Amino acid sequence: MTAPIAPDVRTLPRRAAPEADPRPNLIGLTRAELRAALIAAGTPEGQARMRTGQLWQWLYHWGVRDFAQMTNLAKEYRAFLAANFRIALPEVVVRQVSADGTRKYLLRIEGGHEVETVYIPEEDRGTLCVSSQVGCTLTCSFCHTGTQRLVRNLTAAEIVGQVMVARDDLGEWPVPGAPKDETRLLSNLVLMGMGEPLYNFEAVRDAMQIVMDGEGLSLSRRRITLSTSGVVPEIARTAAEIGCLLAVSFHATTDAVRDTLVPINRKWNIATLLGALRDYPRLSNSERITFEYVMLKGVNDSDEDARRLVRLIAGIPAKINLIPFNPWPGAPYERSDWARIEAFADIIYKAGYASPIRTPRGEDIMAACGQLKSETERARRVRAPAD
Ligand code: SAH
Ligand code: SF4
Repeated sequence: MTAPIAPDVRTLPRRAAPEADPRPNLIGLTRAELRAALIAAGTPEGQARMRTGQLWQWLYHWGVRDFAQMTNLAKEYRAFLAANFRIALPEVVVRQVSADGTRKYLLRIEGGHEVETVYIPEEDRGTLCVSSQVGCTLTCSFCHTGTQRLVRNLTAAEIVGQVMVARDDLGEWPVPGAPKDETRLLSNLVLMGMGEPLYNFEAVRDAMQIVMDGEGLSLSRRRITLSTSGVVPEIARTAAEIGCLLAVSFHATTDAVRDTLVPINRKWNIATLLGALRDYPRLSNSERITFEYVMLKGVNDSDEDARRLVRLIAGIPAKINLIPFNPWPGAPYERSDWARIEAFADIIYKAGYASPIRTPRGEDIMAACGQLKSETERARRVRAPAD
């Protein structure tokens, strides 16, 4: 079956460039920032708390984008808001749907840059894989994003915006008066798209605070997983200031191999990383850490590696996600054979750990783990001579 691919909407007429609009964007402000922005624009201090709560619900509970629809606010106040602020989200440039139902969105953000977001429907959940940067400063040798140099960090608005545009596409905002729907299409969020979330800590934290807020998008911190390549100094802070579940891109069992696969290991090696991970469940009051392990043929997939992995993580409440390598054009690795992956999984399982093998999703649209890469860099280079 071939993947039904939505028309490339690049050919559609563009809206005015959002950067031409000087009004501050309300999306992505924390409650405290929203309140301060309302006061700075002239809202009386005594009203600001109530107005913040009302706006919050319109933006993040109902998904309303037009001040005129905020019917519990006086007409004059709606006009005041429209004159002083805007409600701006990333623009969906291309939407692709895989044969397996995975959806990939190419989003355009301010400055004309592009990032990708992926929605993965499963039987018991729907997971949105969110990006935190355009490109990545790190250069993990098996990762497509790692071949694109960092263009910039995403703002909190652009991170929350990914959740909001996915909800738009899934048609999932509540309808006033309709019975409450307890089953959510977008029920889980993973920070596993493009970029290293812990190199963009503040924006990721603020965005997650907004996503977790019970009067808005209301995703529980236990349904959010942040994946890091191992930015050790930010791990305790993640526990304290976000408190979500943590996944770590482990991928090797010796420093020599991890140094080549995940080069940040040269800064914070396996022993240092494990030290920080040992403290995380207690600090964040969460149950277990997910160890991500990409299966690369002949590189990190031996029985010895599996046994070493078990010894290394002893004492850490853990689950090991085995990710069959997802190829990309020019990648210097091959996926381990299926029998090898199963043998590796078996050793870990017998040692008492859950060791699910991640079925690649959305491979036909290059949406699987590690396949995301936007054209931002190339597009800039192509355009450069005309600039
Ligand atoms: N930068 C963060 C989060 C994004 S990557 C991090 O590195 O943790 C999400 C997961 O996919 C990581 O575990 C990453 O190592 C893995 N990954 C990257 N490239 C891959 C590929 N080609 N095949 C399979 N998994 C890959
Ligand atoms: Fe960056 Fe993560 Fe890819 Fe490494 S695996 S290059 S940290 S996105």
